[in-house]
Amino acid sequence: MRDSAEEVRAKVGELLEKVFKDNGLAKDRAVCIMLSSTADIKSLYPAKAAREAGFSECALFSSLEPPIEGSLPLCVRVMVLAGLDAKPVHVYLHGAKVLRKDLSEVINIALDGPAGSGKSTVSKLVANKLDILSLDTGAMYRAAALKCIRAGVDYSEKSQVEAVIENIDLRVEYRDGKQLTLLDGEDVSNDIRTAQVSMLASYVSAYPFVRSKMVELQREIAKRVSCILDGRDIGTNVLPDCPFKFFLTATPEIRAGRRFDEDRAKGSKQSYEEVLKQIVERDRQDSNRAVAPLKRADDAVVIDTSHMTAEEVAATICKAIQQKI
Ligand code: C5P
Repeated sequence: MRDSAEEVRAKVGELLEKVFKDNGLAKDRAVCIMLSSTADIKSLYPAKAAREAGFSECALFSSLEPPIEGSLPLCVRVMVLAGLDAKPVHVYLHGAKVLRKDLSEVINIALDGPAGSGKSTVSKLVANKLDILSLDTGAMYRAAALKCIRAGVDYSEKSQVEAVIENIDLRVEYRDGKQLTLLDGEDVSNDIRTAQVSMLASYVSAYPFVRSKMVELQREIAKRVSCILDGRDIGTNVLPDCPFKFFLTATPEIRAGRRFDEDRAKGSKQSYEEVLKQIVERDRQDSNRAVAPLKRADDAVVIDTSHMTAEEVAATICKAIQQKI
């Protein structure tokens, strides 16, 4: 909401109506209504808003909440004291349930973009800030590719790849908040990070049966737990109704530079030119495949990360989420 008297009055009225309705309370049963507001609300006392919204018979009290970093902006809380026999029903409007993960429904965030745009680092940072999980969907396609390598199949032979993928035992687990990718029960989180696996993942991910298998798994995880999913088609295909969608971009040169630095730190001997060539080739493959290509969802927020740190991108995403709810 905006900080205007009309809006505060309308939102406080809406919240109180809902609290009374969901608790089966008539207005005259309320003895006292206590309200608090965050410090960024300057236009109207919430107690005055309550009175103006028609809750004028009982005692009204409002107070100011301390300006805690990371709290929801423009937020009003209310507590009603009334003759109530049953347990009170809690009401959270406009996405404020993020404050109560124990009560809330699952929250999903879609984070798409090309290789090297910073998705996985940013995804982990956002997950950490919001205390949710980060699901690296690329790791699943990588595991599918590794399975094909290990099975020694001819990748261009659809039927061979299909036979391998049909029986794939792929699971994602979390240890201390960190994603582990398990292939046939083995933790392959490190083995899937080679240049060979990167290129092959991009290749096999174009097969519709590979995609449908991975998408099924991703949707199943997203349904169960609050998470930020990073990939290529999360906002367009995996979770098209997701309310929070972001698309990261950066120039191929900058993305290749990031990948080059990362790989170097892990002992890779590839030159910058080779990494750039692979990034461009993967972009081409990922963007041109027939099924669920790399594409920004129309309702995604685009962030050019070329000249931003991962922390800055994560902060931008968290702010955009807070502004939306
Ligand atoms: O993100 P990462 O580089 O680990 O992904 C490896 C490959 O997996 C990508 O190049 C892309 O072809 C494929 N992928 C995909 N859809 C996703 C995530 C990854 O097709 N949601």
